Amino acid sequence: MDEDRTIKKISELRKTIEYHNRRYYQQDAPEISDAEYDRLMRELQELETRYPDDDIDSSPTQRVGAAPLSKFSSFSHPSPMLSLANAFFEEEIFEFNNRLKRMASVDKISYVAEPKLDGLAVNLIYEKGIFTKGATRGDGATGEDITQNLKTISSLPLRMKKSAQAAIPDFVEIRGEVYMEKEPFEKLNRRRREDGEEPFANPRNAAAGSLRQLDSKITARRPLNIFLYGIGSIQGISFSTHWEILQALSGWGFPVNKLIEQAPGINTCIEYFKRIGDMRNTLPYDIDGVVLKVDSLALQNTLGNISRNPRWALACKFPAQQATTIIKEIIVQVGRMGTLTPVAVMEPVNVGGVMVSRATLHNEDEIRKKDIREGDTVVIQRAGDVIPEVVKVVDPDKKGRKKEFEMPDKCPECNSEVVKLEGEVAYRCVNLACPAQLKEHIRHFASRGALDIEGLGEKLSAQLFDAKLIADPADLYFLTKEKILELDRQADKSAQNLIDSIARAKNPPLDKFIYALGIRHVGERTAKLLAERFGSIENLMAAEMEDLTIINEIGPEIASSIVEFFHEPKNKAVMKKFANAGVIPQKKEISNNAPLAGKSFVFTGAMKSMGRNDAKDIVENLGGTVQSGVTKKTTYVVAGAEPGSKLDKAKKAGIKIISEAEFLKLIGK
Ligand SMILES: [Zn+2]
Repeated sequence: MDEDRTIKKISELRKTIEYHNRRYYQQDAPEISDAEYDRLMRELQELETRYPDDDIDSSPTQRVGAAPLSKFSSFSHPSPMLSLANAFFEEEIFEFNNRLKRMASVDKISYVAEPKLDGLAVNLIYEKGIFTKGATRGDGATGEDITQNLKTISSLPLRMKKSAQAAIPDFVEIRGEVYMEKEPFEKLNRRRREDGEEPFANPRNAAAGSLRQLDSKITARRPLNIFLYGIGSIQGISFSTHWEILQALSGWGFPVNKLIEQAPGINTCIEYFKRIGDMRNTLPYDIDGVVLKVDSLALQNTLGNISRNPRWALACKFPAQQATTIIKEIIVQVGRMGTLTPVAVMEPVNVGGVMVSRATLHNEDEIRKKDIREGDTVVIQRAGDVIPEVVKVVDPDKKGRKKEFEMPDKCPECNSEVVKLEGEVAYRCVNLACPAQLKEHIRHFASRGALDIEGLGEKLSAQLFDAKLIADPADLYFLTKEKILELDRQADKSAQNLIDSIARAKNPPLDKFIYALGIRHVGERTAKLLAERFGSIENLMAAEMEDLTIINEIGPEIASSIVEFFHEPKNKAVMKKFANAGVIPQKKEISNNAPLAGKSFVFTGAMKSMGRNDAKDIVENLGGTVQSGVTKKTTYVVAGAEPGSKLDKAKKAGIKIISEAEFLKLIGK
């Protein structure tokens, strides 16, 4: 390839990858597979090393992280990042409005109302449309330079888009909030627990911890998001309202929260505050209130600042989802990997509409730090849907408190030795036959992301285990209805249902089966990779270190964990039992001959014969893909009962729409 053509190719690849980033991260409607995306990225990286150019700073390859720093350098904000005054009661919101009306001598003030995200405020510098620097808020005057880390956030444009709303300024400071959504947060914590790392207390801590990583390659693997909501200093263009600024930001390609609204008066603001408060728990991210800003920039100027707060903005906080209760006792639970977790058992109390009687205390260090003891009166809180946690002890100086909590040196379940591995905060029971671990193993095997055995919850699997009817997951397949009926309070019908759902789990998809085995460090994603690579459980069992580490995302730690698992005599015996029971995981074969290869589906409305997840599994097993939204590349839109707006979109785009019956015919049912 000659140089001119290579340069053109580089620029095309950058545009293509940025386009797919937007489809994936902002519109939640990917058009290409992960593998295809990785291929494009690798091609670009290769070309860039051979032909370095001036535009490399805004290249999507910058998003994968750079060499670790020894420390962050400090960064002076060109214009200060102010903090907002808080309001906790409705009266304070009315007072705020009255004060501003008096000061500005007007009858009515127009506002912009925004959800207040519980994340981390950042300041981003764009010069001639290119992202050049980014920093934390710090003390408002000086923050930390976290440019490399911010670049890894896929939804943040490294280059501003040309827009009809506003020209690209020569220089602009853009303000926003980095946050982590609740679901990816839970996933991240699950993975950390499985790996013996300390889980984050809440999404905000996880976002802050990820953003302040000296190794940006770690940040790149964290599911961070960003919303932009304002500007600091700007050169080259000007605006007259805050609303205009938001439109411009959106036009330039920045993610702007869709819930932001114009509010023509204070009553609309109050209505907004209540409405957003009601939907708080249904949002994918945590918010702790709403922010009101005077819309007119001229009026903002007139009002000015008081100490470090702008007079023209107010953070209206939701009542905290906190409650006070008493800790009855502190127990220690043993997880699937043997990790010991202290848990507070409390007098049941209502927190934000949910009855709560247990709170995780994470680990011994956390308990020490907060000095939590049995019998203490404590404040607990729920952030979003996260497991409740103890915020603080109400009266730590009270006389006659119980003695400090101590982690047991023996496993509370099996009395085996407990060890604390180097570099880990968690204590672990080392006994492979520990009943607590085995029970957790069985529960995990039957859980939703794994084999999804309906009717086999935590209680029943523990009951079956304690009655010595099962000792490992493979024993499930040898259960009979008669045996289950021996247990207390087992109805004939539910026993039969359980037997049926276990029978249905005899030919599980290979990736789910691998995940269900509960191999340390092997989560759902790794299980998928392994299934694709090895095709059968026999091949995986025979794999050596080299066969595993050759896979891009599998490092030596995961590889040795897999090899050790299948070499462990106890596990070998369990695998043999699976085979004897006739458990044969389905091989994953996706070839171009697959009936739905190259076809993509969008589902809208409810289907009668199957759930959305079942439909997705079927399509993927037949080689097709399922998209969440209609795109040019959609082959079919399957319309169930009461289809949504996707149907209109498909009609407009001229995409083939089929009924559920037609879909069933297509898949040969
Ligand atoms: Zn144990």
